[in-house]
Amino acid sequence: MPSDKKADTLTTRRAIIEACLAMNAAGINQGTSGNVSSRLNDGFLITPSGVPYDKMTSDRIVPVDDSGRYRGAYLPSSEWRMHRDIYLARPEAGAVVHAHSNYATALSCLRREIPAFHYMVAVAGGDSIRCADYATFGTEELSRNMMQALEGRRACLLGNHGMICFGPTLEKALWLAVEVETLAKQYWIALQAGEVILLDAAEMARVLARFETYGKQPDQVSDSDG
Ligand code: 13P
Ligand code: ZN
Repeated sequence: MPSDKKADTLTTRRAIIEACLAMNAAGINQGTSGNVSSRLNDGFLITPSGVPYDKMTSDRIVPVDDSGRYRGAYLPSSEWRMHRDIYLARPEAGAVVHAHSNYATALSCLRREIPAFHYMVAVAGGDSIRCADYATFGTEELSRNMMQALEGRRACLLGNHGMICFGPTLEKALWLAVEVETLAKQYWIALQAGEVILLDAAEMARVLARFETYGKQPDQVSDSDG
């Protein structure tokens, strides 16, 4: 399903700042780490590079087109390539959130993916949340590694760096970022205590099928959905 595209409005700029502040409030980011974007009709709006979230104002949010050209006085996030490549390859992406949240980052430093230790791993679209190979921040190589780890998924860890995810809206992308960090924390805690029992592929397939209808109201579910 294609995402709901938008024009560059003050409302969207403010929604991006709100998402940034919500990341701080949820404890999944701090300082100038991480970045947030929202798809436009032609390109996307993204947070400026190196500006702390509490200093962000709507005039500092940067419009970037699909070839990376930006408008205005502020430099776009150094990670604009990761955001651009997600929008180009994944029509269902309406917003992207990147964070250096503690547990996702800790796992990424071990280059460990989050396996099917809990059924909620399926929120990212499959039976694992992969960890992309390391590359320097802001590079095309990092974006290529990320796109590989996002195959069939809407979230991944980034080796020795953090995590990134997307959703149809800013609200849903932020929700997924908090879910991924929660799963990373739960997996980390379980790893400290002993051998983690993983759910098998057949069980995760059942969970993924259930997620097709979970949280939807009867009028949003077709007759064929169980
Ligand atoms: P920016 O301030 O350029 O968005 O960089 C933060 C970051 O997380 C780089 O990976
Ligand atoms: Zn980063």
